[in-house]
Amino acid sequence: MSTANQKITEEIRAQAERLLSSGEVEAFLGYEKGSLPMSVRPFTARKPEDAGRLVWNSFCVLNLANYLPALLKSLEPPRRPGDPPPEGPLPRVAVVATGCWSRNIVVQIRENQVDRDRVTIVGVPSRGMVSAMKVRAAVNGREITAVTEEDHLLLVEGNGFRQEINRWDVVRDNCKTCRHPDPVIHDILIGKKAGQRQVQEPFAQVKDIESKDSARRWQWFAEAFESCIRCYACRNACPLCYCPTCFVDDSRPQWVGKSTDRTDTLLFHLLRAYHCAGRCTDCGSCESACPVGIPMRLLTKKLNMDVLEMYGSEAGMSLDEPLPLTTYDPSDPQGFVLTEREEKGGTR
Ligand code: SF4
Ligand code: SF4
Ligand code: SF4
Repeated sequence: MSTANQKITEEIRAQAERLLSSGEVEAFLGYEKGSLPMSVRPFTARKPEDAGRLVWNSFCVLNLANYLPALLKSLEPPRRPGDPPPEGPLPRVAVVATGCWSRNIVVQIRENQVDRDRVTIVGVPSRGMVSAMKVRAAVNGREITAVTEEDHLLLVEGNGFRQEINRWDVVRDNCKTCRHPDPVIHDILIGKKAGQRQVQEPFAQVKDIESKDSARRWQWFAEAFESCIRCYACRNACPLCYCPTCFVDDSRPQWVGKSTDRTDTLLFHLLRAYHCAGRCTDCGSCESACPVGIPMRLLTKKLNMDVLEMYGSEAGMSLDEPLPLTTYDPSDPQGFVLTEREEKGGTR
């Protein structure tokens, strides 16, 4: 009998073949199998016969919204600065999107990075994705040669061992606390909607760190980011990071040092997190891309918690909701603004 993910794979392939054959879209953005166990890679199908390469499984952890603006741009006719906009409709693409990726697409539409009319969103309600790092830890770091998925179990095989793992035990932390597994916008829906999930304490990890005194918080922060090698895989995997020149790559002025010195590294992470404030959907793509397991998502999660508490807003939930940090409202809370008088011990 087919598993849930095999059925989703079949339906994604069928939709891709139909959309590409009919000419409704020029490209279909999904995943294909990677060369190692537990790996998949983003794949753009451009012909109906490419559809058979598309796959869906628990390791589809990189957020496909990240590739959407560049894919749309690549299909536009070349233009020089000052040339008039092209006439007529531009080529369209289809993209597979779970709950959080669809919210990132909403953010990209609101920030004018994606034209809604050029995208067919193929929504897939999420069952939570699996952390390859957790799977490796569950088999004590032994080399894995194959992973077979059932609906609630993973069968992991390596040299001289076979081990069954309960799927939920190795689901990524962000997926375990996700309340919105269903796509918030879609043109095609594959599978059944899961509905809003009840999560007792979605910000428990953040609150645990916040409950420490400042010395321990500093210790956590310094230790957690100590092994960062500044490879920027986290930034590159994030659909919010589309700046033509990132602040870390600027040299005039040089906003932050490029070494792995602790101050430079912590500054990079703090600034990157602030750039995502009010926009991050906790998709976990940044954390999944990190080769050394840095929990940088906890910084953006802290900001997500603050934005929810202060502005009642979660990123990308609707195409109409004002963007929390770029829309001025005189009634916005400003208790966090420290006035000069307060700093000197007086009152606001
Ligand atoms: S970290 Fe900031 S500057 Fe760099 S790409 Fe992301 S949003 Fe842009
Ligand atoms: S900062 Fe990380 S969790 Fe947030 S949207 Fe970007 S990749 Fe996803
Ligand atoms: S946190 Fe991880 S992915 Fe990001 S720069 Fe550091 S080592 Fe690279």
